[in-house]
Amino acid sequence: MSVLRERQFLRRLLVGLALALFFTWLALRPQPAQDAADGIARREIFALGTLVEITLWLGEERSREAAEAALAQAEQLLRQRERQWSAWGDGELGDFNRRLAAGQAAPVPPPLRPLFARAWSLRERSGGAFDPRVGRLVQLWGFDDEAHYRTEPPPAADIDAARRALAAAPAYRAGAPFGPAPGVTWDFGAIAKGAIIDEIGARLVAAGFDDHLVNAGGNLKASGRHGERPWRIGIRAPRGGPAELLASLQTEAAEGIVTSGDYERFFEHGGRRYHHILDPQSGAPARGLQAVTVVAPEALLADAASTALFVAGPDRWPSMAEALGVQQVLVVDDEGRAAATPALAARLRGLEDLQIVPLQIVPPS
Ligand code: AMP
Ligand code: MG
Repeated sequence: MSVLRERQFLRRLLVGLALALFFTWLALRPQPAQDAADGIARREIFALGTLVEITLWLGEERSREAAEAALAQAEQLLRQRERQWSAWGDGELGDFNRRLAAGQAAPVPPPLRPLFARAWSLRERSGGAFDPRVGRLVQLWGFDDEAHYRTEPPPAADIDAARRALAAAPAYRAGAPFGPAPGVTWDFGAIAKGAIIDEIGARLVAAGFDDHLVNAGGNLKASGRHGERPWRIGIRAPRGGPAELLASLQTEAAEGIVTSGDYERFFEHGGRRYHHILDPQSGAPARGLQAVTVVAPEALLADAASTALFVAGPDRWPSMAEALGVQQVLVVDDEGRAAATPALAARLRGLEDLQIVPLQIVPPS
């Protein structure tokens, strides 16, 4: 009997392994034949904790060899930035954060200065709703790494200590070392994807591939067309599966379409969802919204803004959009109700119940 069970177990194990291998192959297999028929070149790269998919439209005059070279260059850039910008990795930002953690003041490494400066100015414009110094809180809540996910919130005293350290942290001053700032860690998780897809987009244009789509886990930079048609972008339904769409829009101009959602990284405890977008003031996940999508010419701005508007919540997101100079916004609140600014509402397809929220004067972004 026990030999039989053992055999059954082994058979199941083998079937399981074969299935796992099959799906891995399915996910990883190259699709050149289909892509060639579609007139595109495509590459999927796992980076920045997500799947980054780059699609180039070839058209008549662009060769597949040139496309492969541009894709290889984009992949290299992505890997370089991933290492450089990771808050806890072995690159420049990780080194900077380790010096802070050791109680020292730390000079900002020269290659990171433009990102620090930009992130800081957005922090100021958002009144601190977007704050790149939020890393200690992110770590405390376990959202720095999937391996650290928690099953319940951290102790209130720890949240309070991290929140206070952030409130007392020094401002960033260009050219000056930062710190000492005990308990403070810089984390560009809320703008890194936007920044990198802008950068990849610019390189692709420089290489002659104006028609492209860069998708970093649902955060997109689109440019040009897909042959005869504009690119069609789907916006995910926050409580549906990854393939279930809330709405879609078409795009031709170079623009970023970025979403912050409470479904990206979260755990549940006591019937509540605790997700990765933290309110620096409370030290806890921001409440009131399920998702915010921002469309702006620059993906970096759309990325910072989507996070800031999410933190601002259901009442304050319009004034936050005004403060940051973004005009195209879609939000979904805790009840699943959608609202959008007129500029984005005019472009959305497939959304029936949509509240239109006009903005006051918006400064140019
Ligand atoms: P996003 O998905 O763009 O909204 O970015 C969320 C990520 O940014 C989180 O995983 C954290 O690493 C980081 N983050 C969380 N809350 C904030 C905040 N209020 N300001 C800046 N970064 C944040
Ligand atoms: Mg963001």
